[in-house]
Amino acid sequence: MRQTAMTDKTDIKGLTTLRLKNTPRDIEKAAELIRRGQVVGIPTETVYGLGADALDPLAVSRIFKAKNRPMDNPLIVHIYSLEQADELAREIPELFYTLAEKFWPGPLTMIVPKSDRVPLETSGGLDTVGIRMPSHAVMRQLIKLSVPIAAPSANRSGYPSPTTEQHVYDDMKGRIAAVIDGGECRFGVESTVISFESEDTVRILRPGSVTRSMLSQYAGVIVDDAILHDLEQGRTAPSPGMKYKHYSPRAEVRIVEGSMDSFIRYTNSMYGDDVYCLIFDDDDPRELRCRYMTYGSTDVQQAHELFARLRELDDKNAATVYVRSPQSTGVGLAVYNRLLRAAAFQVIKA
Ligand code: AMP
Ligand code: MG
Repeated sequence: MRQTAMTDKTDIKGLTTLRLKNTPRDIEKAAELIRRGQVVGIPTETVYGLGADALDPLAVSRIFKAKNRPMDNPLIVHIYSLEQADELAREIPELFYTLAEKFWPGPLTMIVPKSDRVPLETSGGLDTVGIRMPSHAVMRQLIKLSVPIAAPSANRSGYPSPTTEQHVYDDMKGRIAAVIDGGECRFGVESTVISFESEDTVRILRPGSVTRSMLSQYAGVIVDDAILHDLEQGRTAPSPGMKYKHYSPRAEVRIVEGSMDSFIRYTNSMYGDDVYCLIFDDDDPRELRCRYMTYGSTDVQQAHELFARLRELDDKNAATVYVRSPQSTGVGLAVYNRLLRAAAFQVIKA
């Protein structure tokens, strides 16, 4: 029976956060915690997640508390087998199975009408549920040993997503029961989220490592406007995450569009002790006056490194960070989308 006592059973203060390893014994310990309704930090191939029993409203409410996440921002439910999708969804289009076969296990979340088994707490009050089959061995084993796992990114709400166990521990120490160290996340950005527009067309609501061109081999693809633009006034967000400021370090982030020469000219004129630049590995930094860090060269490297760099810039007490604008093609669309939100859409044309 679910607990519905008068006292607040979801209190998260003063928990001792166990730091678990990627061993069968520790994974079993984490699965036991999840079966008992607790929240565990879990490595996945995208970013670290905060996992709990997706079908238990009390367990799910602990995730929202730990993250300080708005209650209307839905959680993605992670599954181990396609049979679990059939239990979570009320209707599943044919195209869902086609895409599942091509991209699962992997970084693709598909939104479908939810069944009654999925509590409204998990779906943020929506009649739909986002489902994903992750590929990370630790996450897969945990689901196998427990239940479908609801897991948003394991950062405090609004902050950059965690891509290492240390990031999770820094954000969640004392707020969750445990975190498992599964190494650095392979992709470094959250999953691609799609909804079904028609029988043969999908809409990308959040870009990720499954790109537009990968999807377009199997379906028509619409890229939602809100990926590259601030949500239009008066428009209801098709995906609630679009509404919120996201991925932001404490530092002010500004994207700078233009060549490296114009980037250097612009940022040199903005010089300050606590002003930093975030440039590409293959940029020539010799003329830069401001301190700098780099975040890869290719789109895949940029995705892998972006969130870690934003956290490191906070550790250095950067007040302002000027970022070289990534290409918005391929996985770059995901990188650019996260940066736009971290920068609250402030783009400078230098
Ligand atoms: P996170 O768990 O932090 O990676 O965020 C998950 C994001 O997926 C949410 O912010 C939503 O934007 C999106 N999402 C999850 N479930 C749904 C759904 N049922 N409908 C629309 N968007 C969803
Ligand atoms: Mg998130």
